[in-house]
Amino acid sequence: MKKDILPFGTQRLQELVSEYSTPFHLYDEKGIRKNLQALKSAFSKVPGFKEYYAVKACPNPYILDILKEEGCGMDCSSLWELILSETVSITGEDIMFTSNNTSVEEFKKAKELWAIINFDDISMIDYYLENIWELPELLCFRYNPGPLKWWNVLIWTPEDAKYGLTREQIFTAYERCRDLGVKRFGIHTMVASNELENDYFIETAKILFELARDIEWELDIEFDFINLGGWIGVAYKPEETPVSFEKLWKGIADLYATYFSGRKDSLSIVIECGRIITGPYGYLVTSAVHKKEIYKNYVGVDSCMSDLMRPWMYGAYHHISVLWKEDQEKKYIYDVVGSLCENNDKFAIERRLPEINIWDTVVIHDTWAHGYSMWFNYNAKLKSREILLQEDWNSKVIRRAENLSDYFATLDYPGLK
Ligand SMILES: *Cc1c(COP(=O)(O)O)cnc(C)c1O
Repeated sequence: MKKDILPFGTQRLQELVSEYSTPFHLYDEKGIRKNLQALKSAFSKVPGFKEYYAVKACPNPYILDILKEEGCGMDCSSLWELILSETVSITGEDIMFTSNNTSVEEFKKAKELWAIINFDDISMIDYYLENIWELPELLCFRYNPGPLKWWNVLIWTPEDAKYGLTREQIFTAYERCRDLGVKRFGIHTMVASNELENDYFIETAKILFELARDIEWELDIEFDFINLGGWIGVAYKPEETPVSFEKLWKGIADLYATYFSGRKDSLSIVIECGRIITGPYGYLVTSAVHKKEIYKNYVGVDSCMSDLMRPWMYGAYHHISVLWKEDQEKKYIYDVVGSLCENNDKFAIERRLPEINIWDTVVIHDTWAHGYSMWFNYNAKLKSREILLQEDWNSKVIRRAENLSDYFATLDYPGLK
């Protein structure tokens, strides 16, 4: 199957498995650079286009360095993400601070870095004024459109989401900030995630473009940018079709022409995607360590859900291939499981796979976004290493595996070190 084929080849992975013991996260640098170049070349016709990478998808400074080289800004939502961006010298308007339930410390840091601040609620205006005194010169608000019906299909329910301001509030918010002396404005929404349908993106853009235009007319302000959020989905399943960047930019460019043609000042369109940027180019590499046959057939691998929480959290599909068996018929049905004392700890349930033997290398695909970064230490599991497969296909450990001293580091107890 095509999805089983690794871009750097089975032999190279075999060498890596011999060099580093499993489990490890493997990231294909060439893959993301090519992907970003394709994204940029498609969107180059959209005015002022910029991608702000959602740092939470893979908060490793070596990765942020690569993204910076490819022209990305950073989308941060917490203090430590801001500090990570600062560490790789991404500051100022190259940071979009899209947080929620935000603390003063976080706002202070964002201000110190001259980041673009995106308020998640109308109450943040007073909270910011009370604690930091003066509003930033450039300010953005996150819009929550509430009940959404597109083509009579309810695709998502923003009214159940904790994010953003209502339509009524958002007019009040911009008016108040205008009167308080804010000079430049942005507007943001994110109503979907992991979406593969082009039309939904275009609809989202339309909702936001329309709203931005209405606000501009009513309040006599001009937006600097419209932030369409992060939503572009990954084709996790072999039968899914990846989103076409070309189709997407065309749809967005058409809308731009409809709503904003003839504007004197430039209005930039930006996005803050995480998963589509890195997701498909990362692999969780594990070894089969046990087989078990009871009412179902199980393959136990030397990793667990703390390496990749998405199947547990969202019932997400992650493709699995077996090294050297990419062409073999998928004649067996297995649950591929980890070692947590939790029955949810399954990378795949009743998955058709080739026969798996002990010590086979079991590769879990599309794990470079929201994979390592969602790690938890439940059951005293320790973090695996992150390995970057560089453009020349030399490997580099960009984060070592956690050891027991790391795990006990916050405990001051005699005998524990
Ligand atoms: C998580 C998140 C993103 C990135 O989402 P992806 O699905 O990884 O593209 C972007 N913006 C905000 C505010 C987020 O919370």
